[in-house]
Amino acid sequence: MVDLLDKHKPIAERFLRMVEQGSNALGVTNDQMISPTRAMVGNREIILAGTNNYMGITFDERCIAAGKKALDEFGTGTTGSRIANGSFILHKELEAELAKFLGLKHCIVFTTGYQANLGMLSGLAGPKDTIFLDADSHSSIYDGCTLSGAKLVRFRHNDAADLDKRMARDDNTEGGKLVVLEGIYSMIGDRAPLADFVALKKKHNFQLLVDDAHSFGVLGPHGRGLGDEANLEDGVDFVIGTFSKSVGAIGGFGASNHPLFETLRYAMRPYMFTASASPASVATSLEALKILAAEPERREKLWANSTRLFEGFRALGLEMGSEVVSPVIAVKMPDEATTIAKWNALFAAGVYVNMAIPPGTPNRLCLLRCSVSAAHSFEEIDKIIAVFRDVVV
Ligand code: PMP
Repeated sequence: MVDLLDKHKPIAERFLRMVEQGSNALGVTNDQMISPTRAMVGNREIILAGTNNYMGITFDERCIAAGKKALDEFGTGTTGSRIANGSFILHKELEAELAKFLGLKHCIVFTTGYQANLGMLSGLAGPKDTIFLDADSHSSIYDGCTLSGAKLVRFRHNDAADLDKRMARDDNTEGGKLVVLEGIYSMIGDRAPLADFVALKKKHNFQLLVDDAHSFGVLGPHGRGLGDEANLEDGVDFVIGTFSKSVGAIGGFGASNHPLFETLRYAMRPYMFTASASPASVATSLEALKILAAEPERREKLWANSTRLFEGFRALGLEMGSEVVSPVIAVKMPDEATTIAKWNALFAAGVYVNMAIPPGTPNRLCLLRCSVSAAHSFEEIDKIIAVFRDVVV
C-alpha cells in the first residue's frame, strides 16, 4: 500500500526544523483577545502587527450589537446554501448595501473570500476561455482558475507590457479573455498599475477582474478599492472582495454592472454547494460597511499609521517588498532560517507578525509581513519599529 500521507514527509521535516528553533509561527493561538491590536498568548501580552484588521473594527460595539441581535433573531446558522434555504433577509440587505457602497448594480455575497474567488473565476471562465493572471496572484485565484478549466496564461507581476505581448501571441480566438489583478498584493503590499492594464482593453478586447481583498475599504477616496483610487472604476468589469479584513468578519463578494451578473448565482459551484454565511457574521459585516462609509477618518488613520511604520522601517535600513506605502509592509529576509530566527526574536519581544515563506510567497521570498491597523496607536507603531530595530536589524 502506498501511504497517501508519505508525500507530505518533506513538509513534516521542514515543520519540525521550524519548531525546534522556537515556537510554531504557523500555529500561534491567541488565548484571549484584548483589543484589535493586542492579545494574550499564554501569559504574555502581544502587539498584533499581522492581522489584516485594517480598520480595527472587530471590537466595534455597534458591530458586536448587530451580531448579537442577529443571533437572537435568526439563530446560530443558516443550515443551507444560498440557493436553498440559506438566503436570509440579512444576506440580501448586505448585497444591496455593498452594491450601493461600490456604486455597482449587482452584488453576490459568498461564505468566504476564498469561495468568492473560486466561484467568480469558475463561473466567469470555462474550458473554452483564457484567464490571464498576474504571476503573483493569491492562491485562491489560482484555485479558481483550476476549477474553471480555462486555459491559463501567467504574465509578469504588474507588467502590462508583458500581458500585451502574451495576448498578442494567444491563438484562442473562440473563447473569452479574462484578466485578473489584485488591488493591494497580499504578501508584498504593492498594487497593480490599473491604468496600464485598462489601456490594453481597447487593443485586446478582454474583461477585467480585480480582487480587492486587501484594498476594499482601504484604497481610494471612498474606500472602494483600486478602481476608486485610480479613478478607473468603469474599466473594471468585476470586483471581488472579502469581509475578513477591513470589514472584520468573514465572507466575500463579487460585484459588477454586467446585466447577466445575477445568472452567476446558478452557475457557481462554490456558491451553490456550500452553506451561506452565518447570520451573526452577515449582520456584523452589514454594520461594518455602514461604518466604513460614514467614518472616512478610519481610513485616514490607517494611512497615517502605515506611513509611520513604513518610514520607520526605511530609517532602519530594512529592505521592504514594495517601495510604495500600503498597510501591507513586508520586510525581506535573506533565507528561511533567518526568517524563523527573527520571527522568534520578534515574538519573544512581544510583537506578532506573519512569517511568510514559500510556497505562500511570490518568487520564493522570505518575509516578515506586517499589516497595519487603524486601531494601532502611534505608540504601538513606534514599539513595533523599536522591536524591529532591536532584534531584526
Ligand atoms: N484574495 C486575496 C488576495 C487574499 O489575500 C485572500 C486571503 N488572505 C483571499 C482572497 C481570501 O479571503 P478570505 O480569507 O476572506 O477567504
